[in-house]
Amino acid sequence: MKQILSLTEAQYPIDSYAELHPIMNAAAAHYKEKAKVFETGLQRLDEFGIRRTFHGFYYISHYYPLRAMSEISGQRAKEILSEMAGSTFEVYLHYPFCEQLCSFCHFHKKITSLDNVERRETEVIDTLIAELQLNTQIMGQRIKARSLQLGGGTPSLMTNQGLVRLLKACEKYLDIQSDAEIKTEIYPKHYDENYLREKLRILKSFGFTDLVIDLESGNQKTLDFIQRKNSSLDDYLRLVEICIEEGFTSFITALMAGLPYETYDSMYSTVETLSEIKELSVINVFPTIMRESDPISKKLELNPEAFNDSSTRANMWLMARMALHDKGFIDGPISYLHRPAIRPEQQADKFECVNLIGFGPSSFGYLNGPHNDWAGQYFNFCSTEEHRKRINEGYPAIWRIGQYDNEERARRKIIFGLANVKTENLLAIEKNYNVSIDKIMGKTLNALHSLDLIELDKSIHGIRFTDQGLARLEEITYYFYSKFAKDKCDEIPDTRDENYKWLINQHYAVTVRREDRLRFEKYEVSMSNNFMEKLRY
Ligand code: SF4
Repeated sequence: MKQILSLTEAQYPIDSYAELHPIMNAAAAHYKEKAKVFETGLQRLDEFGIRRTFHGFYYISHYYPLRAMSEISGQRAKEILSEMAGSTFEVYLHYPFCEQLCSFCHFHKKITSLDNVERRETEVIDTLIAELQLNTQIMGQRIKARSLQLGGGTPSLMTNQGLVRLLKACEKYLDIQSDAEIKTEIYPKHYDENYLREKLRILKSFGFTDLVIDLESGNQKTLDFIQRKNSSLDDYLRLVEICIEEGFTSFITALMAGLPYETYDSMYSTVETLSEIKELSVINVFPTIMRESDPISKKLELNPEAFNDSSTRANMWLMARMALHDKGFIDGPISYLHRPAIRPEQQADKFECVNLIGFGPSSFGYLNGPHNDWAGQYFNFCSTEEHRKRINEGYPAIWRIGQYDNEERARRKIIFGLANVKTENLLAIEKNYNVSIDKIMGKTLNALHSLDLIELDKSIHGIRFTDQGLARLEEITYYFYSKFAKDKCDEIPDTRDENYKWLINQHYAVTVRREDRLRFEKYEVSMSNNFMEKLRY
């Protein structure tokens, strides 16, 4: 595999597919022009090291990233979890099977056919149930759940018997709040209708409130190319219809902007079609992620003519956001565009640094120490075998954790609060975590402010991203990381490391090239430390 950090744009001279195709739709042309003007304005940031690259973008999901976390023993995992007794969590369960290998996907999954699901899932569901039981025992009581998400993988691939078994265990080991958001993912394909309706009734009677149906693209050529041939916009629309008939009224759908063969017309037309479904509460749009380790990069070598370059992908993301804003959708968190009356609770709360507990291989979580003196982002063992082994030995499946002090907690609060498209009150953060913002990141904030990427709200001693800042949020986030976390991200794992595969595949962080980091740090170092005074006076 090529080393990510050594890549240059010049190695991928893409004639963007969408740029080669004239736009027919007037509204798409309007938004494309608007997006292009905006995106062109962002190029001034390149010289400061805030640059969108072909392979670098990754949607922000946790801090620390995996490579900055350390491995812990089963005994230590047990001690950490027992400290959390009595806490309330967002709960996530991971079902690691899919029928197809979508080429952009980096989540942990095993590919299996429909015929083999029952045989293969039994052990995995047994382990999930054992994990629920074990963690409940360690914490001494049923786990209080503010929300529940059954994700994957493809949870809708689970047999209905397996689903019933798992949900019974959830009832037994989780104490789910009466107003909890309970959601799962249904893959948009053609189903045996009776079996699907039975599944939906099982979900409904358990209390599932939201269904995630990720379409990714409404362009069939795109879906075929990214190995989602078994999916289509028509299948998606029919599935939504059936779910509505079975009583579901709230849906969440993801689109990846700028996938291969996507054009401005097809992107716009999909956004328009989706926005007309009134039960669709959230449309999650983010630019295509192109990681070296995912199958999509192999496809790039074979079919470069199908691809869109990084600025076209960013343009399509901007275009979709602008169109959705005009249709009344609002941000929060970034890229989760929702209807004003409906807040995507579980996603938004994740950005508020609340406790998150993950069950199943490769699940991750976030824990706030009960005495407000530590917090930690953790990752479970990634392989199903290692995950099962740890549970069978009687220990929680936590593999690595980044357990940190108040300084890192303050960083995380700022990183995620700003990504939640909020104004973060920095004085309150100083007080809550007993830290000096000037000392931690005064220079960084002054640099970002001087580049018009953050703006001040003195009335609440706060900062928030400007529109330009939001459009480069992921790259800027890297510069909010501590030196330790940045250095760890920049270390390329040793290919001889037995965990090499996971340290590459599950390292969910934006990749910033060395030269860009040096550019930004050179600019940053010329700044003053004093930022907080700007908010005080
Ligand atoms: S995108 Fe979803 S359905 Fe596709 S391979 Fe990844 S987890 Fe499976």
